[in-house]
This record gives sequence, structure tokens and C-alpha cells, in this order.
Amino acid sequence: MTNSHQEYDFVLVGGGLQAGLLALAIDHHNPTANVLILEKNKCLFGNHTWSFHRSDISCEWSWISQLSITQWPGYTVHFPGINRIVELPYCSVSSDQFRKTIKRLSINSDRLRVQTEAEVNEVETHCVRTSKGEFLGKTIVDCRGKTTGGLSGVGYQKFLGLELILGEDWPDLLPTIMEANLDQNDGYRFLYVLPFEPRRILIEDTFFSESSLIDQDQSAKAIESYLENRRVSRWQVIRREQGCLPMPFTSTCQPVTSNQLTGGYAGGWFHAATGFSFALAARFADVVASSESDLIGRNVSRLAEKNRFQRTFARFLNRLLFHLVPPSCRHEIFRRFYTKLPDDAIQRFYAHAFTKTDAVRILFGLPPSSLTPIKFFQSFKAAICRA
Ligand SMILES: Cc1cc2nc3c(=O)[nH]c(=O)nc-3n(C[C@H](O)[C@H](O)[C@H](O)COP(=O)(O)OP(=O)(O)OC[C@H]3O[C@@H](n4cnc5c(N)ncnc54)[C@H](O)[C@@H]3O)c2cc1C
Repeated sequence: MTNSHQEYDFVLVGGGLQAGLLALAIDHHNPTANVLILEKNKCLFGNHTWSFHRSDISCEWSWISQLSITQWPGYTVHFPGINRIVELPYCSVSSDQFRKTIKRLSINSDRLRVQTEAEVNEVETHCVRTSKGEFLGKTIVDCRGKTTGGLSGVGYQKFLGLELILGEDWPDLLPTIMEANLDQNDGYRFLYVLPFEPRRILIEDTFFSESSLIDQDQSAKAIESYLENRRVSRWQVIRREQGCLPMPFTSTCQPVTSNQLTGGYAGGWFHAATGFSFALAARFADVVASSESDLIGRNVSRLAEKNRFQRTFARFLNRLLFHLVPPSCRHEIFRRFYTKLPDDAIQRFYAHAFTKTDAVRILFGLPPSSLTPIKFFQSFKAAICRA
């Protein structure tokens, strides 16, 4: 039961990835704090698969080890003429795995409360208004997820994912992060495969596209024909996942002025060029949970400042990808990325910790022939000015 007259140390608005990571980090750094998660749906965490590189996570964040995570020693990428193994440990956590961890935490601690079916209508500095009443908090973190509000110009990363039980063993032990040997329609398109067990896999048909709409039948057919090419003749769909994420060209980090904070996607705590949230949401969670209450705003601002270059450059890459390069050439950028960059630079890129030298390496040799250098540099300047 939640108590609307009690003042919680933390009220987390929206029960998705960011709220889950915050709950774990607070439990570790500040175990006497009372935490309330408010979620509009019937259960927390929706229907997602969140992947990340092991190296995105600092070894100092021992609180993440409470999460049950699937891990592989590396992964492969495939483009015309290129098959590469990237030897960077790769991890994945599902909504189910997250739900079990938070359930365990709330059973073991009476300091974590979850209120589902509570749609939040208004968030103030110390008060949240929901369909189920008002809740008070010393620190309120808005984690309501994606929004297109305030984004000037976006492309989309969209996908249909099918989790399957196979009649035969899957031939690969490692995930395939990009299988780009397929028709490049609707922008850059690739298949993404996570082999959880020899006969249980997730396949996603993914697009970096101008449009947020996805043709589900066409994607299901592409997955089917890939399975047949990999000599799998029998399978059963056990879960369907669909998503679409706006990928911004300009900065969206909310200014931090008080202990009313915006976390997760809505606060700009995601990698704009990959769409992955885990690394930055975990960083945000660690800073919020480990700071003295009156220093949270200041420390979050410092973290945002520390990430400024990476944030700006990632958004510039989106501008390049969606705005400057014709959709039919889009895959060349990814092909080049995986052809030219060594594992350590790929690691820094995904961890949102890339250096200026890495940025030059990513751009070197670009733009593709269809883009004039002058347009390219004008756009780079515009991206920097707006960040
Ligand atoms: C194709 C694709 C692939 C992706 N792959 C990855 C990946 O591999 N790794 C990764 O890290 N990220 C990935 N992402 C991105 C990731 O899913 C999101 O960016 C991430 O979930 C954002 O976390 P969040 O906590 O901000 O929002 P969410 O996880 O979306 O959580 C927001 C929560 O707030 C709730 N909510 C919303 N409004 C209200 C309200 N008014 N009142 C109460 N509750 C509310 C929602 O129901 C939801 O539960 C992918 C996205 C896409 C589209």
C-alpha cells in the first residue's frame, strides 16, 4: 500500500528503465531512503529488451549486479564483404528480468513502494498529482520516457522483434548486432539477433528511417526468410516486441534547477546516435543515488556538462545520417564504422565516452560521395551551435 500523506525521499515518476536503475542504485547508496515508483500501466517495465556493452558499466557500480543479466563474450556484424567478430562482452536484460529484481527488492525492503495504474498528470518540485491522489517527495525524478516535445528534427529507430522457440539449435553462439545483407529499403535496415539459449532467440528487424511507421507483415516476412536461410524450419513465436524511438539532431538535456529532475530518455540520458539508454541512465542513477540530497541538482548538472561533447557529436551523427546522407547510402556509414574502428574505439563510442580523436576517426573518409564537403561542415557547425 502507498501512503499519499507520507513524504518519500524519492518519488520516481514512470516505472521503466530509468526508474528501475534508480531504485537499485538508491537501495545500494542510500538504503534508509523511502522510494515510491508511480507507473501508469498495470505493471512496471513494459515489454523491452535492453542491451548494452559490459564496458558501458563502471565496475564501481556493484548495485547493477542485483540485476539478472544475460551476457555473451562478444558479437558479430555483417555487411556486404565484411563479417567481423567484435570481442567486447555484450549484455542484455529483459523487462521480465527487471520486474523480478524489483519485486524481490520490494519484498525484502519496506522502503520501496510501487503504485501501478497511477497516471501522473502533474509534477511539481515536491508534489506529484496522479489519478490515485497526490504524493509528496523530497526529490522527484520524472522518468516518463520518450517524448518528441522540444525536438527540432528527428529521425526514427524502429523495429519489430520476435522472440522464438526454435525446432533446431540456432547455429550461432554470439549475438548478431547488425546483419545488413538485406534489402536496404526505408532507410538503413538490419536484423539483430540475441541467442538466449540454443533454441530460444530474439530477432529484430530494425530501421533507421524518416518515418515512424513500420510494416509489420513485411518485417515478419524478412525474419521468416532469414530463419529459412539459416536452415531453421520450425519455430514458435513466444513474444512480440515493437518500438520506435525518435533520434534527435539537437540537444534535449533538461536544465537542472532544483531537486525536480528529469531522468531517462525525457531528460536526454541516452546515446543519441545508438538510441541505447542503459549506460547513461545508469550513470544518472549512480549520481542521483550517491549524492547528498541538497547536492543532487548540482551533481547531475556536472554530469550533463561532462557529457556535452559526446552529446553534441552523437546528435551531429544523426543529422548526418538522416538529413545529409540519402537513405540508400545510410548503411555505408555503419559499414565504414565497423570496418575502420578498432574494438577499443567501438567500446568508447557505445559507452558515450569517445574522445575527439575517436570522433575524427569516425568522420575520416566521410562524407559519402553524394554529400559535398561544404554542406557537411556547415551542418557540423550548426549542430555545435544548437547543442
Ligand atoms: C528499436 C529500439 C531498440 C532499443 N534498444 C535498446 C537497447 O538495446 N538498449 C538500451 O539501453 N536502450 C534501447 N532502446 C531505448 C530504450 O528502450 C529507451 O530509451 C529506454 O527504455 C528509456 O528509458 P526511460 O526510463 O526513460 O523510459 P521507459 O523505459 O519508456 O519508461 C517510461 C515509463 O513511464 C511510464 N509513464 C509514461 N507516462 C506516464 C505517466 N503520465 N504517469 C505514469 N507513468 C508514465 C511508461 O508507461 C513507462 O513504463 C531501444 C529503443 C528502440 C526503439
